[in-house]
Amino acid sequence: MVDEGGYAAGPADRADEEPAIRFEGVGKRYRDGTEAVRELTMDVRRGELVALVGPSGCGKSTILRMVNRLVEPTSGRVLVDGRDTAHVDAVELRRGIGYVIQAGGLLPHRSVRDNVATVPKLLGWDAPARRRRADELLELVGLDPAVHGRRYPAELSGGQQQRVGVARALAADPPVLLLDEPFGAVDPVVRDRLQAEFRRLQTELGKTALFVTHDLDEAVRMADRIAVLSTGGHLEQHASPAELLSEPATDFVVEFVGSDRGLRRLAVTPIRPEDLEAPPVLAPGDGVAYASTALEVDGRSWGVVLEGEERRLVGWVPRGALTEAMRRGDRAGRVRDWTQPFPVAVQRAETMRTAFSTLLAQDLRFLPVLEGEEYLGVLTAEVVHTALRGVPVAQGADGGVAAR
Ligand code: ADP
Repeated sequence: MVDEGGYAAGPADRADEEPAIRFEGVGKRYRDGTEAVRELTMDVRRGELVALVGPSGCGKSTILRMVNRLVEPTSGRVLVDGRDTAHVDAVELRRGIGYVIQAGGLLPHRSVRDNVATVPKLLGWDAPARRRRADELLELVGLDPAVHGRRYPAELSGGQQQRVGVARALAADPPVLLLDEPFGAVDPVVRDRLQAEFRRLQTELGKTALFVTHDLDEAVRMADRIAVLSTGGHLEQHASPAELLSEPATDFVVEFVGSDRGLRRLAVTPIRPEDLEAPPVLAPGDGVAYASTALEVDGRSWGVVLEGEERRLVGWVPRGALTEAMRRGDRAGRVRDWTQPFPVAVQRAETMRTAFSTLLAQDLRFLPVLEGEEYLGVLTAEVVHTALRGVPVAQGADGGVAAR
């Protein structure tokens, strides 16, 4: 479904609510004649994180920079908070918009604290107030002001510089954040953590964020909606990650999203208890004769062992072990004597991607799923397969996404 003009119905979309950012038939032709963006119409809702993705040169940065007027549109209008940015003083406009670029874009000859306090200083705050704000923000992004505050950017790791960049963008508490490949320069492990932390921060602080990335996985992981662009800033599709991956709107999106979109979809597919397998349940105190019959009747080669009404997971018991116990005449034996622990379990709140990679990494055939301590069922490769073919997390109000 192409979210034409960005006005399609969705749960966060209240028709009466002004979008945080609106592009209205926006175009940009650079002086050399390059038409970077032709006619873009798109909304970014309040509190939403929208990722702009697309091949290099398709106009992502141009679109981003038209919001804070680092680039002036040559046609159409960009509205921030309902106001036509062309009629707002550029300096004032930028104070309400945090801007984060690769490697933080920090001033090399200023201390970390001074870098963070750049905008408060422009706003005329006195020194103690600036320092308080800077230290508060450093803590917010996970840096120790006492340790890192006095350092210079070059004395920090790439990930730490990026954190400072985010802190600086948040300094004047702007409602809108623009991020241009913010995590592009950090290594993958650090990037994962920064992505998760940034997402949490953005949601907690209720910021609207427009985010450029060339990394589709990053977009899938972080964004509420993804805007896929082709050359000339042409909006191919603007939809939730799940919808984009399950219902690519155009051939371009199909190609861009790639053949492994099934795997990507796992990252946005929840673990649903009703999809899980339910092997026979035994109690630690059950006798081996009973247990062996129960498994035989069910036609299963193993059973799951749970304790108490809370269904606390103890482990699993193979039918072979029970049969062997019977053969040896161990009729007084109990299930607990033959129970083996599961090497690992996943929480229901995890995504299918985590579950599936655990299954693969540990070379398991089944993986118990828990909610807190309570056992819910067992996840297998078949469950993953079914989930992939089924309905992903629909983020559209209409239930959005059809099963494939
Ligand atoms: P992306 O961020 O998707 O890589 P850009 O917005 O940077 O794309 O660029 C879009 C197009 O505009 C490209 O063809 C690029 O070469 C061109 N472009 C970007 N900035 C300028 C500029 N200042 N002058 C002329 N052309 C530019």
